[in-house]
Amino acid sequence: MEIDELYQTIILDHSKRPRNFGELPAPARKGEGYNPSCGDEIAVFVGESSSGTIEQIKFTGQACAICMASTSLMTIQVKGKSIAEALALKRTFIDFLMQEAAPATGLGNLQALGGVKKFPQRLKCATLGWHALEGAFKGRM
Ligand code: ZN
Repeated sequence: MEIDELYQTIILDHSKRPRNFGELPAPARKGEGYNPSCGDEIAVFVGESSSGTIEQIKFTGQACAICMASTSLMTIQVKGKSIAEALALKRTFIDFLMQEAAPATGLGNLQALGGVKKFPQRLKCATLGWHALEGAFKGRM
């Protein structure tokens, strides 16, 4: 399979069957994101362990395929990480999407979103879930 086809398959799969889809009850943290240019709406729920790692993460919302897939892949990639590690991964992901030669260290299947590089107007779709995740930690860091 060509790498582009593989990436397309990953995005389709996660947009149609988003992983970790649903809500977490309080006292889980909640962060929200809205992308008016596309109509994407995402809410991310995070349950922390006593040691401060992301023990549980879920999301809900209505969004385009890029946004759904990116948020679904994000939940898989940040589970078990500390908040600082998750926010570092956010920066890596955004750099990866915005800079031609940026490294993709630790991104795993999130690299499937690399096609967004060619469509800067979809950047907000690909990063909305991450902004919602960061929003869940606002006032804490
Ligand atoms: Zn979108």
